[in-house]
Amino acid sequence: MKVHNFSAGPCILPQEVFEKASKAVLNFNEMGLSILEISHRSPEFVEVIQNARLLALELLGLNASDYTAIFVQGGASSQFLMTAQNFLNPNKTAGFLNTGTWAAKAISEAKRFGNVIEIGSSQDKDYTYIPDVVNINRKVDYIHYTSNNTIYGTQMKHFPKLGNSHVFCDMSSDIFSRSLDYNQFDLIYAGAQKNIGPAGATLVVIKNEILSQANTDIPSMLNYNLIVERESMFNTPPVFSVYVSYLNLLWLKDQGGIKGIEAVNEMKAKNLYQEIDRNTMFFGVANKEDRSKMNVTFRLTNENFTEEFDNLCHENNISGVKGHRSVGGYRASIYNALALASVVKLIEVMQKLEKNHK
Ligand code: PMP
Repeated sequence: MKVHNFSAGPCILPQEVFEKASKAVLNFNEMGLSILEISHRSPEFVEVIQNARLLALELLGLNASDYTAIFVQGGASSQFLMTAQNFLNPNKTAGFLNTGTWAAKAISEAKRFGNVIEIGSSQDKDYTYIPDVVNINRKVDYIHYTSNNTIYGTQMKHFPKLGNSHVFCDMSSDIFSRSLDYNQFDLIYAGAQKNIGPAGATLVVIKNEILSQANTDIPSMLNYNLIVERESMFNTPPVFSVYVSYLNLLWLKDQGGIKGIEAVNEMKAKNLYQEIDRNTMFFGVANKEDRSKMNVTFRLTNENFTEEFDNLCHENNISGVKGHRSVGGYRASIYNALALASVVKLIEVMQKLEKNHK
């Protein structure tokens, strides 16, 4: 039975990735051993993690002599504090664009390490839009953005710099989904569990030239320089998550890389938003210009139809469209691995609801 999985993360991954991963659980690389039981220092796994790190850079169009990719643990949430612990201190200032819960969490962690200012916020309208960046008359060492706001369904299109500030970006829910000049970022991080792979690993991409500016008195597990030096092997990495992420990045390369998948992502988002705008039973939550192509948030114009719509989704094997618990409504996450056919099915169900009440 085909389930159309619109879950926000952990989320759908390509079927062929699941198949390859399940084979590796039983017999990895014809070793007669499971991927789950081999040493992370075995040559076979070292090759996987090195290849995955290089492939991540290649897919983002970044040069391996300018950037380093590492896999760490602790989710994107640990990056909220790691970025600040490595690059902030009481004499430095970081500017944050407050675009929702995740940005706010990053702000509150960074405050433990140095000065933090908000360079814009959309809190006044429940984070339904991307605010302009306010030009602050003060030196900002780095700016922190959340490129895609998973809960609210907003997505940034531009990433302004302030003076010579570095640009750090939480790309947890849209990395590898669209063409961007990734060279404009000094540090990118993303929890794996959307467009990268299974939960457990977190990808961090750092511009090499900023590493020398990092603080030095940092606990080892949180120290970017140390993890980079040890090639992402300071301690035992999340072996299975890294392996499946590698399979998924290989799948992405087969789709034509970011450019290839972006064309499909555009079509999925366009069709779904068109239906939301056409169908009077529904309305979109996010400001039109700021709509996300990964997380589509919408609501029923009449909430009395909630049970009926939920049942229709259930009967049609549509799963995971419930909005985040903090905002309610609906959210269809249409990540890289979700087929256009699943979006078509969701649209059919929305039209069925409309028909039932004509
Ligand atoms: N940032 C964004 C944009 C997210 O969507 C999420 C989780 N959905 C996080 C950070 C937190 O990620 P984690 O659970 O990996 O800590």
